[in-house]
Amino acid sequence: MPHHVPLIATIVAGLVLAFIFGAIANRLRLPVLVGYLLAGVAVGPFTPGYVADQPLANQLAEIGVILLMFGVGLHFSLKDLMAVRKIAIPGAVAQILAATLMGMGMATLLGWPIGGGIVFGLALSVASTVVLLRALQERRLIETERGRIAVGWLIVEDLAMVLALVLIPAVTEALSGDSGGGLAGMAGALGLTLGKVGAFIALMLIVGRRVIPWVLHWTAHTGSRELFRLAVLAIALGVAFGSAELFGVSFALGAFFAGMIMSESELSQQAANETLPLRDAFAVLFFVSIGMLFNPMILIQHPLPVLATLAIIVVGKSIAAYLIVRAFKHATGTALTISASLAQIGEFSFILAALGTELKLLPPEGRDLILAGAILSILVNPILFRLVDRHTQKPLKPTLAPEEVAPSKSASCVVLVGYGRVGKAVTEGFKGAGLVVVEAESERLDELRARDITVVEGNAVKPEILIEAGLENATHLLVAVPNAFEAATIVEHARRINPKVRIIARAHSDAEVEFLAARGADNTIMGEREIALGMIALTKAKPRPT
Ligand code: AMP
Repeated sequence: MPHHVPLIATIVAGLVLAFIFGAIANRLRLPVLVGYLLAGVAVGPFTPGYVADQPLANQLAEIGVILLMFGVGLHFSLKDLMAVRKIAIPGAVAQILAATLMGMGMATLLGWPIGGGIVFGLALSVASTVVLLRALQERRLIETERGRIAVGWLIVEDLAMVLALVLIPAVTEALSGDSGGGLAGMAGALGLTLGKVGAFIALMLIVGRRVIPWVLHWTAHTGSRELFRLAVLAIALGVAFGSAELFGVSFALGAFFAGMIMSESELSQQAANETLPLRDAFAVLFFVSIGMLFNPMILIQHPLPVLATLAIIVVGKSIAAYLIVRAFKHATGTALTISASLAQIGEFSFILAALGTELKLLPPEGRDLILAGAILSILVNPILFRLVDRHTQKPLKPTLAPEEVAPSKSASCVVLVGYGRVGKAVTEGFKGAGLVVVEAESERLDELRARDITVVEGNAVKPEILIEAGLENATHLLVAVPNAFEAATIVEHARRINPKVRIIARAHSDAEVEFLAARGADNTIMGEREIALGMIALTKAKPRPT
């Protein structure tokens, strides 16, 4: 039995404790994130007992970042990216400037040198990829307009940080050495970085665009699911790593491009599904690795600076983002979602903080404040989103009165959740008035609106969305979403909202049928069984004439 296995120990301790603390947080009705962060604190160096390997935990977290950004790229096309550039570029630049100035102001008050102030401010200006993407994914916002703006914004921030990481050492050198040569050195470093980023993008768009879909198609035609999975992972990780090593761009950016190029191939949906379980596991390790950095003593030793740092991240940055988005004439809801998405900091801030202390620009206290600001802002983030949800949601009453729902016969109102393969077939076969469709992805709804079917846009796991769809007065609820956990939550809420409604749910296995029935579904249709019955029925048809 080997004794020194730090990689295994870090993965196991991280996942096991994250599960235990996450489950406790869930029981206490707190976001599971809180549990993951606390698991990190528990295996970190500032609490007694086992201490996991920090550098290893950070590397594992990077894999989470890669897979998350790859997944987002899969839902993005170059056209989507171009469509948001008009707001994302000026928005991100203005927000970085605003946050940096606030950070510099605070640094001046604390008596730090100007270089320290710049690093501190920059570290507070850049949001964490993982926190932002998870929040958007949880709310099914990635494929909405506001989600795309937030992702575009994040990419600009990411690029700005790639430049900052190169420029900060060059500027420090210029300031300390002979200024003429230093300035030339700075311009050289900037030119080289921009050239490398440009070369990377060109290579991906010209060569990657041909090679990646070809590899994927070729692998799919081998018929081996295992090889297909491997191809997806190899492309995601390979492009991310290769682009970071060769072109100096971040892992996240490399992965995003790999995903975006794959999204042009019809196999992209399948590719996305192949990476989901791994992505979720590594994203959890990201939070554990952040928790490990946190020294709770700072809350007692420097409470005021910690609060001020948190205020810059959560309040200052949010106000700046809100004003910028509103200035571009986007709706209040969009502005609020984007502000909340970006009101936190994470992985890039730590890299900047480490670089700043290494170059002796940032005092160690600055690094501790950045770490405390990160963990606290990540903890506060779900609360911010909840406030935004509350603000942007319409009042908690059915927007459709029973007579509006079904003008002729209000008793015939049926609520359908999910307008995908199943939901679409339901609407096609549905006869009668009073159908209301709940769907999370706005694009899918345009078609229904054109057909004059009442729609409610949103995630049906939220009770208020079901209420908005008129569930309180519905006779039937058809839950046509594929994920059994989500379906079960919808069924549970629906039962509470309307004890009399007949709930018909979709399942894929006997275990899911049982699970959904226990939550309150009256009938559950298992897709696979229906296919089998269809096949048996067809065996009774006449044989093909020979
Ligand atoms: P399919 O598996 O093709 O029938 O597609 C399922 C559909 O349900 C997709 O259009 C999803 O966007 C939608 N969907 C999945 N989960 C939810 C949810 N929680 N709330 C609303 N719509 C959902």
